[in-house]
Amino acid sequence: MKTVTILGATGSVGTSTLDLVERAPQDFRVLALTANCDVAGLAAAAIRTRAALAVVADETCLPALRDALSGTGTVANGGAHAVSDAAAMGADWTMGAIVGCAGLAPTMAAVAQGGIVVLANKEPLVSAGDLILAGARASGATLLPADSEHNAIFQCLDAARPQGVRRIILTASGGPFRDWSREAMRSVTPAQAVAHPNWSMGAKISVDSATLMNKGLELIEAARLFPIAHDRIEIVIHPQSVIHSLVDHIDGSMLAQLGPSDMRVPIAHCLAWPARMATPMAPIDLVAIGRLDFEAPDAVRFPALRLARQALEAGGARPAILNAANEVAVAAFLAGRIGFLEIAAIVADTLDRYDPPAPETLDAVLGVDAEARVYADACVKDCVI
Ligand code: NDP
Repeated sequence: MKTVTILGATGSVGTSTLDLVERAPQDFRVLALTANCDVAGLAAAAIRTRAALAVVADETCLPALRDALSGTGTVANGGAHAVSDAAAMGADWTMGAIVGCAGLAPTMAAVAQGGIVVLANKEPLVSAGDLILAGARASGATLLPADSEHNAIFQCLDAARPQGVRRIILTASGGPFRDWSREAMRSVTPAQAVAHPNWSMGAKISVDSATLMNKGLELIEAARLFPIAHDRIEIVIHPQSVIHSLVDHIDGSMLAQLGPSDMRVPIAHCLAWPARMATPMAPIDLVAIGRLDFEAPDAVRFPALRLARQALEAGGARPAILNAANEVAVAAFLAGRIGFLEIAAIVADTLDRYDPPAPETLDAVLGVDAEARVYADACVKDCVI
């Protein structure tokens, strides 16, 4: 039986993880569940799974959590430090599914404990990938990628023989505005942007998928996780989201991983790894799908792709600034303060205005992240609609 901790248990990835864990109570015991402030969702999950600990990052929500859990046997705690403490409890298997760089410190805490740490939360890898990998080397933790593209590559790539790999190809659905002109994208609303054609996800990653910043973040994530040169990681638009990514080898063989557009597939791969476990989804029906389409991404209509590749190539603090500015801009867009096209413009402006030296410690990364948010906030104020 594996002990399991889920960071971000009330979100889209968190609830998918809980669904799988709850289907196999003989295999998993829940140690800790965390959320930001969704007390009802967190308490219900903690009670169902008999979790030892439930934590809200927002300390103002702790009294409500204490009330909801009183008499249940689950301990309640609150505050950002308490989320990291929960991550450090030493679970055999930890899911990192917090959204944004708020997941960085808890991810580092989980990695420092060893065990299996599953990374859905991509922003910490973008901002501090080297530190997370170094932490895993030091503690002996095993990092597994739950992001569907990286999980697909993980399944197709023989990491011990990278010299046999010609290219990694990340697939992208293209999002809801794949065919839209820049002019049409000018008036996109938050409701349109979060309505992803293939995947049901949290609001932030849905907007990232619509700007294609998600694919830019995934490009950086892939460069961190796999021993392949940056210029051999490519992106192709594949609107059906059936192939989740591919590895092309020097002998001409291309391996792909296919599956339903449901995060429970890559999460199950990580939960059972190196074995396999059953999931409740119907198998994909190739005949019903009929055809698979591919097209080149358009970095003119979707400048986030170019910004992310430039940040990856420049290295240093650039990826952390890109990520922080994007988090600020997406939040402003979701709050109706800026237009859709301003998201990438604010990221570009922030990268122009702020160019600190490379951060080499966790505190330094958090410092760059905080300062980049100040610059990005100023850019938001400049273009409030
Ligand atoms: P959601 O917005 O659905 O869930 C986010 C989770 O993080 C919630 O549990 C939320 O708690 C918690 N949270 C939010 N802010 C904080 C904070 N400041 N401190 C601690 N916890 C916080 O996100 P998703 O599940 O969609 O995405 C999670 C991560 O996984 C993201 O990094 C995303 O890019 C990545 N990912 C997601 C995929 C998907 O299909 N959704 C696919 C691949 C990767 P509360 O509910 O209380 O707000």
